[in-house]
Amino acid sequence: MSRTATAAVLREYGGPLQLETVTVPDLRPDEILVRIHGVGICHTDLTAAAGGVPVPVPVVLGHEGAGIVTEIGSAVSHLAVGDAVVLGFDSCRQCRNCTRGRPSYCTRFAPLNYGGTRTDGTTVLQDSEGAWLHGNWFGQSSFSSLVVATERNAVRLPPDVSITLAGPLGCGLATGAGTVLRVLRPESDSSIVVFGLGAVGMAAIMAARIAGCATVIGIDPNERRHDLARELGATEVISPAGYDDLGRHLRRLTGGGADCAVESVGSEAVVRQALSSLGSPGVCATLGLRAGRNPITVDQTHLLNGRTLTGVIEGDVDPHRFLPELADLWRDGRFPVEKLVRTFDFTKLDDALGAVRSGEVVKAVLTFDN
Ligand SMILES: [Zn+2]
Ligand SMILES: [Zn+2]
Repeated sequence: MSRTATAAVLREYGGPLQLETVTVPDLRPDEILVRIHGVGICHTDLTAAAGGVPVPVPVVLGHEGAGIVTEIGSAVSHLAVGDAVVLGFDSCRQCRNCTRGRPSYCTRFAPLNYGGTRTDGTTVLQDSEGAWLHGNWFGQSSFSSLVVATERNAVRLPPDVSITLAGPLGCGLATGAGTVLRVLRPESDSSIVVFGLGAVGMAAIMAARIAGCATVIGIDPNERRHDLARELGATEVISPAGYDDLGRHLRRLTGGGADCAVESVGSEAVVRQALSSLGSPGVCATLGLRAGRNPITVDQTHLLNGRTLTGVIEGDVDPHRFLPELADLWRDGRFPVEKLVRTFDFTKLDDALGAVRSGEVVKAVLTFDN
């Protein structure tokens, strides 16, 4: 049985994402078919579309999908038709890091998430001419009304949360929240500085409030985001322009230096500012992905005083444990995803991409007419 769907296809790096009719082949035993209700646009999709991630083209991007399971393969045991799921990144669930509960460092992360095919080299999408398209982007390729995923990366949503808005839990929001709640683990009444108030940074701010941080400082040149950051939990929000030495200003604001910093921009200048905002001891997590090599010079003398610079992928969380926790926090009003999101109909994909690129929206979610 072949199934048709509408998907946004990238045929060349730097080219447009064009809506096309695609077909999805029969499921393998471990696969599920998901009818997507909403999919967030993450910066990694834009980086990939520009050629900054080694995923082959033609490809369907999108990796913050959520929807309803409409078919399951014969070996699927933990999900059923009709389940509402959010799709996370893919991981093998078997390697040393996966079995230790750290699947974002899965030894097979790159082929599973950027390979564009199943592990045997076959793909899950064909265009209207019958030519194969690359799919399996983050185990989903969810800029599509129908998606092939697996139990490995599909997490059942609790009732009473919006399926349409849940997709960003799977990447951007888990990245920011996981970095705070699972990696930095700030003490209550500690201080934290968050650089970059996109969806990742805003999730870090919400998580800092959940953790009970006394001082939560957000930094972003886009002042349209400052009020939202305050509403979500920032005790102070600063535009970096106008400070000759932002690090010194932040050390003063935090009474000698922050306990933690989250850096979601990825530029050398911002990583250095984040490090220089730290007290002693202090930890800075860098999350911002830049295409290709991204060398950063760090002053070893500065690190010696008990300071740590660490890199974090996907919040270092196991989606199967962490996403239901985030969904529960959302339902309790402590992680208000809806405040970050503007929805766009899938046919208005170009408008959504424009709004993301210009910084006009914090998180764009594409919705489908189901
Ligand atoms: Zn693994
Ligand atoms: Zn992402």
